[in-house]
Amino acid sequence: MDPKVILETALHREEISAIEALLLMQAGDSLRPDLFETADVLTQRFHARNVTYVRSKLIHYTNICRAECAFCPFWRKKGQRGAFLLSADEVLRQIRDAGAVRQIDLQGGLNPDVTLDYLTGLLRTIKEEHPNLHLHGLSPSEIYYVAKRSRAGVFEVVKKLRAAGLDSLSGDSADILNDKLRKKFATEKLRSGDWVDVMRAAHRAGLPTTATLLFGHIEDEIQIGEHLDIIKNLQRETGGIVAFEPIPFVPANTAVVKDRKFKPREGIEPVLKMVAICRIFFARTIRHIQIDWTKLGWPDTLRTLGAGANDLGPLSVDAAEIRAPESNGKLTTPVTTLKSMVQKAGRIAVERDPFSRRPLPRLGVRQEEPALV
Ligand code: SF4
Repeated sequence: MDPKVILETALHREEISAIEALLLMQAGDSLRPDLFETADVLTQRFHARNVTYVRSKLIHYTNICRAECAFCPFWRKKGQRGAFLLSADEVLRQIRDAGAVRQIDLQGGLNPDVTLDYLTGLLRTIKEEHPNLHLHGLSPSEIYYVAKRSRAGVFEVVKKLRAAGLDSLSGDSADILNDKLRKKFATEKLRSGDWVDVMRAAHRAGLPTTATLLFGHIEDEIQIGEHLDIIKNLQRETGGIVAFEPIPFVPANTAVVKDRKFKPREGIEPVLKMVAICRIFFARTIRHIQIDWTKLGWPDTLRTLGAGANDLGPLSVDAAEIRAPESNGKLTTPVTTLKSMVQKAGRIAVERDPFSRRPLPRLGVRQEEPALV
């Protein structure tokens, strides 16, 4: 099938299939202008020119992780230098220091000392002191691990976490939903079906989630197509996914680079292509395509806004600056600079409500209304 016909189909509000997404992935460079334009038309149809973000504080409650994923530079073994597990008081201290944030992102790992009681206690303690903060985070792999260790069902665990204060679940740890690759990356991590089961349980329990794809490592296009299809089918079943985040693989300090199949990405074009394909493939099924600026830096992140991305996700905003959490606060951007950069890219940066994902009203400024389709 001619890829241009697939783009035409997408523009006329019909969903494209995983096979068609695969054909777009395999299309040559000459398709790129049309691909980006189609993605951009769909983005503006759903979100006008608004680009949203949420003031957030990322807190790693532990970095001890038994999964030891080959693509992750974050994990430490228990007892290793730099390994930690925070107490609820230490987490509260970080929140108090964070300033005027609306959301807390809790991320951890598969740590045998993290029990269900630890997690529910942590969530309750935060909510007691900060009832209006949106608590986002954990991930299917953390939930599956805790459920297994406490010999409980994942639905039961998810319900307890929700009752303790979790407002939405991170769709991290999807990585690539292909068990051959998952086994290669991390022997102890949950398999594709388990990831889907936790997501389904979360949606059943009334917890919205994001969903993710880690791309640009040793996966192939067929595996990406299958991954996207699994997520679309889940969304058709439950409707609980509020945003999709394609995560470009960052090879620094990871074991994947030793794999003979790994080839470093050349330039930003493959990332833009993937963002555009995700926008076109998910269309009305998942309307928010999120991008993490800490993976790409601002210049390339701004380019994704013309290729299908509409959400900058959680930004660590301390006072008037946005900080990259992984850079120990060294990489910062003033909020005013962010707004003018986004404006130069032809968009409007708007803070959003973490619960509804809708832009917050801005006093005295006319808000662009997204077109409803
Ligand atoms: S499960 Fe998460 S924290 Fe643990 S090694 Fe894998 S990516 Fe890193």
